[in-house]
Amino acid sequence: MGTQGSDAFSRVAASLSDGVPDEVRPVSGPGSDSIDSRRRGGATRPRPLKTAIATVSISGTLDEKLAAIAAAGFTGVEILEQDLVADDRSPREIGQAARDAGLEVTLYQPFRDFEGLTGAARAKAFDRAERKFDLMQELGCELLLVVSSVHPEALGGIDRAAADLADLGERAARRGLRVGYEALAWGRFINDHRDAWEAVRRADHPAIGIILDSFHTLGRRIDPDTIRDIPGDRIFLVQVADAPAIEMDVLYWSRHFRNMPGEGDLDVTRFLRAAMATGYCGPVSLEIFNDQYRGAPPETIARDGYRALVALIDDVRRAEPKLAVDAPAIPGRVAARGLDVVEFHASGADAPGLAAMLDSLGFERLPSVATDGRQLWQQGEIRIAATPRPAAPAIASPTVARLGFRVASAADAVTRATALGAKPVSGPAGSDAGGRDAVCDPAGGIVQFLDDAAPQAGPATPAGGCGLVRIDHVAQTVPFEEMLAWSLFYTSLFDISAGPIIDLVDPGGLVRSRALGSPDGRVRLVLNGAETPRTLAGRFLAEGGGATVQHLAFATDDILATADRLAARGFESLPMPRNYYDDLAARFDIPADRLARMQAANILYDRVGDGEFFHLYSRPFGPGVVFEIVERRGGYGGYGAANASCRIAAQKRLAP
Ligand code: MG
Ligand code: MG
Repeated sequence: MGTQGSDAFSRVAASLSDGVPDEVRPVSGPGSDSIDSRRRGGATRPRPLKTAIATVSISGTLDEKLAAIAAAGFTGVEILEQDLVADDRSPREIGQAARDAGLEVTLYQPFRDFEGLTGAARAKAFDRAERKFDLMQELGCELLLVVSSVHPEALGGIDRAAADLADLGERAARRGLRVGYEALAWGRFINDHRDAWEAVRRADHPAIGIILDSFHTLGRRIDPDTIRDIPGDRIFLVQVADAPAIEMDVLYWSRHFRNMPGEGDLDVTRFLRAAMATGYCGPVSLEIFNDQYRGAPPETIARDGYRALVALIDDVRRAEPKLAVDAPAIPGRVAARGLDVVEFHASGADAPGLAAMLDSLGFERLPSVATDGRQLWQQGEIRIAATPRPAAPAIASPTVARLGFRVASAADAVTRATALGAKPVSGPAGSDAGGRDAVCDPAGGIVQFLDDAAPQAGPATPAGGCGLVRIDHVAQTVPFEEMLAWSLFYTSLFDISAGPIIDLVDPGGLVRSRALGSPDGRVRLVLNGAETPRTLAGRFLAEGGGATVQHLAFATDDILATADRLAARGFESLPMPRNYYDDLAARFDIPADRLARMQAANILYDRVGDGEFFHLYSRPFGPGVVFEIVERRGGYGGYGAANASCRIAAQKRLAP
């Protein structure tokens, strides 16, 4: 990734400063009536936006963390005490290492169990603070995070906490340092940002401010709009984290399940809108404790964090016109109108098998103009490209190497994707071979954007085909621990929303599945997360050369007619057992003659309310790639998850 993320972000900001539509222009600026300028009684220039991430959020040694954080594009880092204590260098050397990596040390944390003590315990707490101040001065960090106390001997009372903070502020100010006070959601007396703010307000010391953390506010279901009452210059730091909606002990939830903004269920956007609407102009920082991240490569987590933060800040910028910081303007989420093109790479030995499969599905091969041996197939709005690739023993074939999305502006889509940290793909201009208006997905596959300037498909060919009109969905198999990253990749780039994660039962283990869909349902992606190679999805991952599309579903308006045409062309569907149809007969009122035709064609069925879903599968081929044909009726929005275990068992019988 290199410094590509940050470079892209600032390049975008620069390139958009002239001649941009008002919709993407930063609104606050000299002369604008920003809250900041009103508070200060005069016009002030918006400050450049600063971003940071806490070292606890990612894996690795401190040096690995610093390198990954800088490469992803952050401007600052929060140093967690345990990372400093475990390192064998002095605080001065660590601070220098951060600055050498191009990072400001935004914060040192945490300082625990400070306020509310009496007598010797109180004196000891102040001694501890002085030692940390020594360390911070060596480190070159001017802000300390004090979290609200959980000490068993601490006494409550806002005034007592305020008096302790005022005394601490006096000591910090003598050294040119500042202290931010944060309400832990599980704090003994102070566990709500409104109480933390009241203690800070009463402390009334310029070196004492509040630190806000989205988890502590939203995790306790405290209305984030109450933050709007806090003056922006009294907020010393804003930390953001998301989390899935799980009912559990709030401390355990916080320490193990936080995730990147946009990956969970908390309304982090509303929180950050409130914080930034105060005129706050300090860093926006990620503080994420997550068990999965601890095992992932530091570069990956830093990259995902930066992606999440850029998308979040862009959402805030659009919703809150008067910010005191200059958040770069980037094009909005891409409205994908369709997923039109899928490109396979196939070795010489596997290309004929793919061609035969596409022919049996009713695709028409277009006259080739490519000099690289690439073949183009079309049916309805669907285009499939098959590109020869020299056989590489480690990589299975054929595999999907490119997805082409129909969009309004390919240039805007590439701009947003690269600002979010995706790597642009360079290739021959004017070709349709994936080199144009394209970026890499997290596994190095190609996501291409096709607008009206892109080469058009030939005339639609429904009559000669099997009635396949468009791509209904693609299902991408990914390692389970990368599911959140993939989901974030798509939801931060496209105007697409993610459904809940559901379990699919494979005889060899569980597969976790999450569907992503555009508002009109024209673009649907399914992410299947595999944990063990004993599942079909896990074996595909292990043998298929990485995370990519495992099954590709085409829509028809009449699946029985399509099934007849497929049979006439020699297409072989995945055989479903008789037990399945006996079960369907017991569960649903399907007319006997219809059920008989469905059984003959191996068509599966699901029903939710008035919505009906009919689908059939090809036999697996290559590394386990499968084609599916679906008919949706009555607004059915799912994917036939009820049939998944039966279908997976049938596939495993063919490819044990
Ligand atoms: Mg925090
Ligand atoms: Mg499917």
